[in-house]
This record gives sequence, structure tokens and C-alpha cells, in this order.
Amino acid sequence: MCGIVGYIGEKRQAVDVILSGLKLLEYRGYDSAGIAVLDKGEIAIARRPGKLAALAAALHEKPLFGHLGIGHTRWATHGLPSEANAHPHASGGVVVVHNGIIENYVTLREELLAQGYKFSSQTDSEVIAHLIAREYKKIGNLLNAVQAAAKLLKGSYSIAVMAKEAPGELIVARNASPLVIGLGEGEALVASDIPALLDYTKEVVILEDGDIARLTATSLEVYAAGEPAKRPVQHISWTPLMAQKEGHRHFMHKEIFEQPRALTETLRGRLNANGYDIWLEDLPMSALNKENLTKVLFLACGTSYHAALLGKYLIKTWARIPVDAE
Ligand code: GLU
Repeated sequence: MCGIVGYIGEKRQAVDVILSGLKLLEYRGYDSAGIAVLDKGEIAIARRPGKLAALAAALHEKPLFGHLGIGHTRWATHGLPSEANAHPHASGGVVVVHNGIIENYVTLREELLAQGYKFSSQTDSEVIAHLIAREYKKIGNLLNAVQAAAKLLKGSYSIAVMAKEAPGELIVARNASPLVIGLGEGEALVASDIPALLDYTKEVVILEDGDIARLTATSLEVYAAGEPAKRPVQHISWTPLMAQKEGHRHFMHKEIFEQPRALTETLRGRLNANGYDIWLEDLPMSALNKENLTKVLFLACGTSYHAALLGKYLIKTWARIPVDAE
């Protein structure tokens, strides 16, 4: 899990709002970050693997200016954390950031490759950029293009989309991945979680699964199954710290209740749909097989030591080889 922040308005530089918002979403975990801004009629993109500070340093060296932008912190599920795999992904003047997993991306990728689209990453997300670009070319309306592309996607996603040819709008969509909209005066924001909005506005709209919305600096339209939908504007009286605790009295309490979601997010993309094949890209085990594995040693500290103790128990029981946790 990771974060999305988007900004449209005249008041502020999109980069400033997006970087500060992504910072407030850091607690969700991530391995790379990126940002796209409409800068003098062109879309400019900066992406970096690693911490947000690396992206901030790149933007300090080569600033991007503009009042429409989208940003992303990525938790890689398909493709290593690298600059090429970091979001936003672009296709024909359309840029997209995505949280989640597109389960049918292999089929979509093959179809798009056959139609001449070139891929520059190993992510599942890049298919979304190409699909929207393809539909946008046909339809000429970004909202309708996102609606058409969303019909082809299977899986979980929250996305934010902008296009060079559509400087006054930001399109967002949510399906089984969180997304909230913040309405300011003459500006609007979108983010994965409320804390990222609170420095700018207390008026928020929480999107529901299946919603697709069009934001301009002064308006919001939400659609569900292609029809206009009403979503209440909620006034948030929490301070940013209270919002981060999401109604829990302590962070520890919140973390305990977050465990089911954290486990799902961790295993997401690492278990095949059949639930039996396990894919650990960061731990290439192909050279090893059970016969030449004579002992496992976990080196860990703090919470990871407790996880190692559980690993020791499981591996000993199932693989029947000596295991130590130090
Ligand atoms: N599945 C996408 C990727 O690996 C998005 C991951 C995320 O939610 O950050 O790029």
C-alpha cells in the first residue's frame, strides 16, 4: 500500500502540495516516488527510487512549476523499485498514478503490444496509462476515456489521471483502494487518506468503490456506473494527528486493528491467484532447492525478531531443517 496526492487550482504550486501530502502518507510504506506536473503546456515528470527526500532533492535541483499535478508513493507489486517502474506512467500525453493491482494486466498488455503501444516499465499499472490514452484518442473526453478504460480493468485500484490536452481537469477513480477528495476555495485535492488534505481544507468527499470523479479547481462531479452520483461533503474537525490515528486513541491501538489489512497488502502480488504459488521477487530462491539448504538463520531485531521466531517455528515444522533466530 502506498499513496496518491493530486492538486488542481491556481493558488499554489502543485509540487509543494503534493510533496507535503505524500510526506503525510509516508506511514503507509513505499519504495519509490514520483510526480507529474503540467508545466507550460507540457507534462513534466520526476521519479526516484527510495525515499521521498530523493525526489524532493531532484525537484530542488530541477524545479517543476504548475498548478495541476499528481504524485505517488509506490509499494512495488509488479517490477522492482526503480525509476522506470516508479509512477506516474505516461502514454500519448496522458499520465496516471495507480495504487493497487491490475489482475488482468498480462492479457491487456499483450493486446496493447499488438496494437503498437510501447511499454517502458514492468508494472501492471502501465496498461492503465495506455488504455486511457487509447480511449482518449478515440473519444476526446478524459472523463469518458477513464470510464471506458475502467470497464476493462480487473483488480484493485485507485488512480489519478491528467492529460496535456485537458489542463483544467483531474480525473480520479476508486475500486477497492481508498481515495478521498478535498474541496478548497478555488482549488481541489485528492489523496489516499484524509491527513494529506487537512492542511488545505476540512471539507472532504469520500469516494465509494466504483466511483469515477472529475475535479476542476471549482467543481466536483462524481459518477457511479456511468450515472451522476451524490456523495456528501463531510466536515472534518480532526487535527492532522487525530486524522492519522483514524479515530483510535493511540497509534498502537490503530496498528493492532490494521493487522488484517497489513497482511493482505503484504501478500498482495506475492501470492498467485490459486493461492499456492508464492512469488518473492526480492528473494531469488531459484538457485536453492531443499536438498542443498542445510540450515536457515534469521538475523533480526525488535519486531522483525518476533517475526523471525514465528518463521523459525514454521520452517522447522514444515521443512524439517535446523533454523535459528538471532
Ligand atoms: N501494482 C503497481 C506497481 O507495482 C502499484 C503498486 C502500488 O500500489 O503502489 O507499480
